[in-house]
Amino acid sequence: MKDRERGIFRKYLERRGLKLTAERQAVFDELFARHEHFEADELLVRLRTKHKKISRATIYRTLELLVDSGIVGRVRIREAGYRYERLRAGEHHDHLICNECGRVLEFFEPKIENLQDEVCERYGFLPLSHSHQMRGICRQCRPRRGRPAARERATATGSAQREPRRPVVH
Ligand SMILES: [Zn+2]
Ligand SMILES: [Zn+2]
Repeated sequence: MKDRERGIFRKYLERRGLKLTAERQAVFDELFARHEHFEADELLVRLRTKHKKISRATIYRTLELLVDSGIVGRVRIREAGYRYERLRAGEHHDHLICNECGRVLEFFEPKIENLQDEVCERYGFLPLSHSHQMRGICRQCRPRRGRPAARERATATGSAQREPRRPVVH
């Protein structure tokens, strides 16, 4: 599948008068080596350990190009931080993002997918893509926080006021 994506990326670059340089190729290879959610600086460290001479600016620029070409997706984890992942054509998943440790969990829920289609239909809207992200505290981080236990008891009785939900970041 990697060859297909490489072809897409090369064509995308050609249309913009750009070339698949050794640096761009290195970023592509690192991202497509396995399915993970990488931060740009992680890619920088990995490439440097492989003795690739590459600047942080080049990595950021290449990531922008990869996202724009549609073969790499990104998940917002902080105000100014993203994680990047390779995308497989025809495959789709959404994300749960932990505010404490930054862990990114993937999920696929047919009911949510169908509901989104229904909403689009209602508005006469042709959906091309979507990204659904929920922010919260992951299972590993919840015990460390202390507070959630009290909140759980409160919601179990159904009487407690719920904290306002944070808006979903798209
Ligand atoms: Zn966590
Ligand atoms: Zn993902």
